[in-house]
Amino acid sequence: MKKATVIIVDDEAINVEVVAGLLGDEYNIKVAFDGEQAIRVIEKVRPDLILLDIHMPKLDGYGVARILREDPDLREIPFIFLTAKQDSDSIVEGFRLGATDYITKPFKKEELLVRVANHIKVKQLQNKLNESNRMMQHYLEIIDRYVITLETDVRGNIVKASNAYCKLSGYTKDEIAAKEASIFSAKEKPKDFYPEFIETLSMGGVWNGELGCSTRDNRPFWLNMTILPKYGCEKRLEGFTAIATDITDKKYIEILAEQDPLTKLYNRGKLDCFLEEKIAAAQDGGKQFCVMIVDVDHFKSVNDEYGHQVGDSVLKQFARILQSKIDLRDILGRWGGEEFVIILSDLGAEQARGVAERIRHNIEGFDFDTVGTKTASFGVTDYRSGDTLSTLIKRADDALYRAKNEGRNRVVFL
Ligand code: GH3
Ligand code: MG
Ligand code: MG
Repeated sequence: MKKATVIIVDDEAINVEVVAGLLGDEYNIKVAFDGEQAIRVIEKVRPDLILLDIHMPKLDGYGVARILREDPDLREIPFIFLTAKQDSDSIVEGFRLGATDYITKPFKKEELLVRVANHIKVKQLQNKLNESNRMMQHYLEIIDRYVITLETDVRGNIVKASNAYCKLSGYTKDEIAAKEASIFSAKEKPKDFYPEFIETLSMGGVWNGELGCSTRDNRPFWLNMTILPKYGCEKRLEGFTAIATDITDKKYIEILAEQDPLTKLYNRGKLDCFLEEKIAAAQDGGKQFCVMIVDVDHFKSVNDEYGHQVGDSVLKQFARILQSKIDLRDILGRWGGEEFVIILSDLGAEQARGVAERIRHNIEGFDFDTVGTKTASFGVTDYRSGDTLSTLIKRADDALYRAKNEGRNRVVFL
């Protein structure tokens, strides 16, 4: 290890020689013979310790101490007064000026050696600590700049955010702290977010999932977020720390791949996936479900009479009506053209027929913009053991065909 450097400051050459002789084996020694010279050497060498006489020409030891204390670059260097002045006032003044120690001459060799060794050890530990702090600061700055992080209180209110989060969300750090928005109030959360989150935490775990948020000017963005509990004294929950990555691009691609652009409902591809899942689950555990195809009656005439744009608007209104009439666990999508599919979860044939009848009645009574009243026909069926996607859809389609043939604006169950 590199030897520590000690500067001996004394106007008497013999004193310098004695002390240098004592410390020379252990330390790298520099000397100065008055206060002004001492400052020049200290500035140049930046020693680990200074042994400082008080009574000296030009600038005395107290003067040197004052200069050291005023200079932010030199303030941290420890100094020991090594002086003949033994009166209490001088000692008090020495410590008041920031001395780490005060040794009077004549001194005992062993005592000087052990004191110097101790102070240098403390200084070296201090140096290490400063270096660790500097590195930590460096990493914290990098994290703040490039990593999306949030700190919340126990209720999930965001109290602190990294610059990376601010940049993404458009909020300043102050605005975020003042806003008291909760991470749990994210616009889009996975199903069963709360029970899952609470269960994970109660087991001492870490929650990870995708959350949809919005920027200051209301644009959506998506985060893949990991939320860790933050414990204080006595293992008490103090809040949460969240680390996230921006997955907005991935999310948009996912949404585009499964969404019908006109109605924003699921598209046929996604409906196929849901149906396959439902069939697998039904085969596994016998969970009942029904499928309903809804087809607008004489829709072509809307386009013919009012144009394609009005046709589009009627389709959008249809989508909203259907959406408002089904349960949260049901799945609605656009099958194509003016046909919609609804997957009714956990329902038997009779209940499904009832739901279809209710929707049919609602549509019949609805006043569509520009076109007034419209009706729809419904083909409904239930999952039966051995069904595949195609047998299931075929039966619903046959039911719909029959509803059309029997005069439209009706529900047929097959
Ligand atoms: P039916 O009662 O037998 O179902 O008669 P229909 O006119 O509703 O059925 P048909 O299948 O003959 O016509 C469906 C029409 O839906 C034809 C097509 O131009 C129109 N269509 C399909 N997709 C869209 C769309 O996205 N926007 C608009 N405006 N029209 C669409
Ligand atoms: Mg039709
Ligand atoms: Mg059709």
